[in-house]
Amino acid sequence: MTAGARPGTCQIWYCGRCRAAYKSTPPLVDPACTCKTPLHTLHPTTVTVPPTPPAPRPQALDDDEARHRALARRGRRVRVTFEADVDTAWLTRGADGHQHLTVLVITDDSQHHTIDTRLPGVRIDAAHPEEKDET
Ligand SMILES: [Zn+2]
Repeated sequence: MTAGARPGTCQIWYCGRCRAAYKSTPPLVDPACTCKTPLHTLHPTTVTVPPTPPAPRPQALDDDEARHRALARRGRRVRVTFEADVDTAWLTRGADGHQHLTVLVITDDSQHHTIDTRLPGVRIDAAHPEEKDET
């Protein structure tokens, strides 16, 4: 796309010397030809400049996003944590005869996540340790 273009359809004359636009009707495209005298072409080219796409995502990533991207490297050891409300939990007896706990939690976006406490390194803590259990 030509720099300095506004959406719409226009006729553009391109300079025969530098191949940059030197005239646009209606003037949707800023002339880019820098020749002292453009080498005029006989026939304009009809160009449709698409509407500007929605504003690009802000260049500045939010802090967490930038941090996550920096950490997302193969082999990097990370600790994954998130807050959620415990919905239910149950014990099952594994093939090894040991009981293990599975906790179903609901994150603030109402998504359910099953946490298998046998997962190596998994750790569940109270999000707000000062809160007392209701029982
Ligand atoms: Zn030119």
